[in-house]
Amino acid sequence: MYVDWGEDTIRSFQTAAPVDVVEIARAFGIQVWEGDPGPGMAGKLFRDPINGGDAGYSILVNAADSYVRKRFTVAHEIAHFFLHRDRVEAKGYISDDVWYRSGMSTREEAEANRMAADILMPRPLIAHYRRQGIQDLNQLAETFAVSRQAMEIRLGVD
Ligand SMILES: [Zn+2]
Repeated sequence: MYVDWGEDTIRSFQTAAPVDVVEIARAFGIQVWEGDPGPGMAGKLFRDPINGGDAGYSILVNAADSYVRKRFTVAHEIAHFFLHRDRVEAKGYISDDVWYRSGMSTREEAEANRMAADILMPRPLIAHYRRQGIQDLNQLAETFAVSRQAMEIRLGVD
C-alpha cells in the first residue's frame, strides 16, 4: 500500500504537468533506462545493485515505445515498487508485457495501473488545467504527456 512519505514525495513532483516520472523514480532510488526488455515486453523493474539508483533498483523501458507509453510504463513499475515490493524482492525482478501483465494477479495489475494514473494524472492538477480553460481531451492528454486513451479513462469518458 501507499506509504505516507511516498505520497508526499510524489506530490512534490505534481505541481505542474507533465509530471516528471523519471525524477519521481530517481527520488525513490530507482534508475530509469531505455533498452530492449524482450519481445512483447513493455518494461521491467529489477534489482540492480551496481547500476541502479540509491534503492538498488532499475526500471528498463522499451526504447521502441512512444514517449507517452514509456512514461506510463515507468509509472506502472514505480507502482509495483511501492505496492508489491515483497513480490519484486522475492524474485529480483518483474517484467510487464505490452498489456501490463507480469504474472501477478489481475487485481495487482489493476492496482499498479490505478497508482500509475494517480502519478501521471493527479486529479487536482487536471482540475487546475481545466479551470485554465484546457477542456479538450486531446489538449489535456498532450498537457499531461499521456495517451488520449489514458486521459479518457481518467476523465471517465466512454
Ligand atoms: Zn505490472
